[in-house]
Amino acid sequence: MSTLKISNLSKTYTNGVKALDNVSLELENGMFGLLGPNGAGKSSLMRTLATLQDADYGSATLDDIDILNQPAELRKVLGYLPQEFGVYPRITAEQLLTHLAILKGIINKSERKELVKYLLDKVNLYDKRNKSVKGFSGGMKQRVGIAQALIGNPKLIIVDEPTAGLDPGERNRFYNLLADVGKDVIVILSTHIVDDVRELCTNMAIMNLGEIVFHGSPQVAIDDL
Ligand code: ADP
Ligand code: ADP
Repeated sequence: MSTLKISNLSKTYTNGVKALDNVSLELENGMFGLLGPNGAGKSSLMRTLATLQDADYGSATLDDIDILNQPAELRKVLGYLPQEFGVYPRITAEQLLTHLAILKGIINKSERKELVKYLLDKVNLYDKRNKSVKGFSGGMKQRVGIAQALIGNPKLIIVDEPTAGLDPGERNRFYNLLADVGKDVIVILSTHIVDDVRELCTNMAIMNLGEIVFHGSPQVAIDDL
């Protein structure tokens, strides 16, 4: 079991927008939904936790890792599926995952081969492994995104607005996969779609104007919306 503790995280951009206003949360394994309208600060929080941008003050720890001060340690145990995952060179699914596994430091060739096979199988793309990712549907690309986020046994997986552009069937396949993955790690699912959180998450928060305005069970929050 892992614990992610976020304390008073704050960020004001140079244009004066306060995107994070004393955000505090404590999360354990399972699917956590971060709900909020566009501009609420969800991506700012996700990017800060993924160490892709700095905070002005506050802290975040994942077990014994001080996230803001140990970005290299954090990245070893982080799976990140950004909103804009979808820009691909013309390589096959197998080549892409192999390349990303090398970047994640999995240098043993037979170990890497086995891992890539396992991941392709897990996201149900093994039979498409030799096809160019550029030609994949939106849902297939998102499943490649999940596969890459699983490289290196992450403790924390961050998924930012993942279902934009997916049809209902693709969305269901993607979410079944995410729910399966989410049993054993902390998954943060950032979305503005209430149904995504209702169907998948055991714990959630609502963000607005940089602040957490609710944290608790989806049943309690969503029935009141
Ligand atoms: P900081 O305040 O952290 O220095 P900047 O204002 O320099 O951040 O912006 C960082 C990046 O974010 C720039 O590439 C900028 O184009 C982009 N950016 C600026 N405004 C927005 C916005 N409203 N939403 C998303 N990205 C933005
Ligand atoms: P969300 O993901 O909930 O849509 P964001 O974190 O993208 O929210 O944005 C929160 C606020 O911060 C918005 O007002 C947005 O325009 C602003 N913002 C986001 N990134 C930047 C940036 N790099 N520079 C300046 N303003 C930004």
